[in-house]
Amino acid sequence: MTRQAVLNENYPLLLSPIRLGAHTVRNRVVMGSIHTRLENEPDAIERLAAFYAERARGGVGLIVTGGTSPNFEGRVEEGAQVLDSEQHLAEHVPIVQAVHAAGAKIVMQVLHCGIYAKHPQLVGPSAISSPINRRVPRALSTEEVEQTVEDFVRCAELARQAGYDGVELMGSEGYLLTQFTAPRTNSRTDMWGGSFENRIRFPVEIARRTRERLGSGFLILYRISAIDLVEGGLTGDEVNLLAQALEAAGVDVLSTGIGWHESAVPTIATSVPRAAFAFAAARLKKAVSIPVVASNRINMPSTAEEILANGEADLVSMARPFLADPDFVIKAASGRTDEINTCIACNQACLDRIFTERPATCLVNPKACHETQFSDTPPEVKRRVAVIGSGPAGLACATTAAERGHQVVLFEAGDEIGGQLNLARRIPGKEQEFSELLRYFKRRVDKSGVELRLGVRADAPLLAQERFDRVIVATGIKPRMPDLPGADHRSVVSYVDVILGRVKAGERVAVIGTGGIGHDIAELLTVHGHDSTSIPEFLEAWGVDPTISGPGGLKKPATDTAARQVTMLQRSLTKPGARLGKSTGWIHRTKLVRRGVPLLAGCTYHKVDDAGLHYSVDGEMRVLPVDTVVMCAGQDPDQDLADSLRKMGIEADLIGGARFASELDAMRAIDEGTRLAYAL
Ligand code: NAP
Ligand code: SF4
Repeated sequence: MTRQAVLNENYPLLLSPIRLGAHTVRNRVVMGSIHTRLENEPDAIERLAAFYAERARGGVGLIVTGGTSPNFEGRVEEGAQVLDSEQHLAEHVPIVQAVHAAGAKIVMQVLHCGIYAKHPQLVGPSAISSPINRRVPRALSTEEVEQTVEDFVRCAELARQAGYDGVELMGSEGYLLTQFTAPRTNSRTDMWGGSFENRIRFPVEIARRTRERLGSGFLILYRISAIDLVEGGLTGDEVNLLAQALEAAGVDVLSTGIGWHESAVPTIATSVPRAAFAFAAARLKKAVSIPVVASNRINMPSTAEEILANGEADLVSMARPFLADPDFVIKAASGRTDEINTCIACNQACLDRIFTERPATCLVNPKACHETQFSDTPPEVKRRVAVIGSGPAGLACATTAAERGHQVVLFEAGDEIGGQLNLARRIPGKEQEFSELLRYFKRRVDKSGVELRLGVRADAPLLAQERFDRVIVATGIKPRMPDLPGADHRSVVSYVDVILGRVKAGERVAVIGTGGIGHDIAELLTVHGHDSTSIPEFLEAWGVDPTISGPGGLKKPATDTAARQVTMLQRSLTKPGARLGKSTGWIHRTKLVRRGVPLLAGCTYHKVDDAGLHYSVDGEMRVLPVDTVVMCAGQDPDQDLADSLRKMGIEADLIGGARFASELDAMRAIDEGTRLAYAL
């Protein structure tokens, strides 16, 4: 049996080659487009080439780049890539060459943002602004629409000159092509608006002219909005008609996109079940004869294989999973699926950073988009290292250090590794992905040769006795218990005890603190049984019609009720939950609003007694008659060990919550642990 055949036994469909247009792609794994914002960095080209090349070496079949605008008005933001003349080719050639050298195909995504653009020159089919962009677009004139079609074609010609195997025309997620097709954003009265045929003319004409001018050897993918998930979007039958028109115009592959950025339905967050939207790709696949790509919340090879086995799609696109693990395909192919660093769909280090104008990286893989900053050269001196605490910071540090050749002992006082990750994996909607993260770290601990001492509370004398070269304290945090009269009342509990099930909350609950943990607790305490984890339950809960019979594929969401009466409180006057992730905070807030959970701001806490929580707002005294008060008031560093080491004159490095607890999240913890391990 050949090596290829042996490898393919693991995921036979996913890893089998496929013919796309005039090209043979080595497997059915597409790395979907992801905007990294690396192009805004000083060493952009080198970093982008390193980023894509690493994913190509990791076995991806076809890479779709982040979006490049065909003209100045269409760019995402100031400084974003535009390909409208030969002078920009040098920004692309090194990327294409690096990817081709690693055996993958690469197409450039042509993305015109239209009314989503974050700059003053934004344009759209009509002067209708988006609810997620306060800027008002200028409506394109008929001549300008014609010119924009030409700009797309010219951009594709330049992409071919740069060496790309093809282009992906971005026609989903609510960008310009979608804005033309949907009545929601197109109120034109010329040949580019009005009837369905007129509205789809813009994308179809772009595809037709691109094919005409670039010939049959050049790949044309079209990212089609398979379900718009907005009012005034297309029906499923209209999506099919558009798909057929695109096929007739010469498109080789239809890659499915799900929803618009302004959709009120979660499409990529952790709480979205895996492959929840494969039904939309399957529906489309029945309407066309060209290959269809499934996407959204596909983050493990088994899920991808299942989609292909079900005949729902011909290829599978994953974007964030390749931030999390560039070697995803190689690991899947060589029987090392348990070594895959799974994307947990948190969006914290990728989309949330992009939306706040910072370059993307990945919570579970801090090297993502920083490939050039981490050297594989082994350290000159191999050290004996103690890491105390096996939360995300300690795990990242211990495993990275051991992989770099250091001799590492990881001390954990509890009987399992994971620290705060063990809390996260008990929160509704987070169970599956945080358990994957723990599985990944467990496997990495085993494989890297870290000596794990579970159930051992490392103290200063023990560490002194063992004579380590370096001691790294990753002892994490202590939940903050505000100093409030009645804080010792039997109704007052810490979030840790609630999440771990050590205490049972009553029927009426006050949650003090509205940060990420406060929201997690409120969701945990109001959910009936479990979160909507099955795909049908999820679609019902968020009002998605899998038959896509009406515009946008929307229907009335199922009614949600709270399992108990919960009130959330905070002292500050800021919008409650304002510090939650930009791309996910609204999901948590929506769930709690639907469950009737009030969020009270500007509270001063006075005391807790048998009557409940006494607090005031604007000087007005109030009592919340509750059975349980859950403290979710943030954390303080756990520095007990660090203090005793200091007293004994033992030098130690502090990472994660032990160093600084405020706004600690797993992203900072893993990043600090990894970087310190490289610096040892
Ligand atoms: P946090 O985000 O810092 O929130 C702490 C909350 O406690 C705030 O609402 C704060 O509001 C309140 N508070 C602070 N000091 C207080 C005091 N002395 N007395 C009473 N209230 C006090 O902390 P967290 O919720 O524990 O989350 C920890 C980290 O994990 C954060 O970085 C968070 O982003 C992350 N996380 C995120 C998610 C998510 O995005 N879904 C989930 C879990 C955790 P006031 O000061 O206004 O009272
Ligand atoms: Fe996935 Fe979170 Fe990493 Fe983004 S930051 S790639 S969502 S794990």
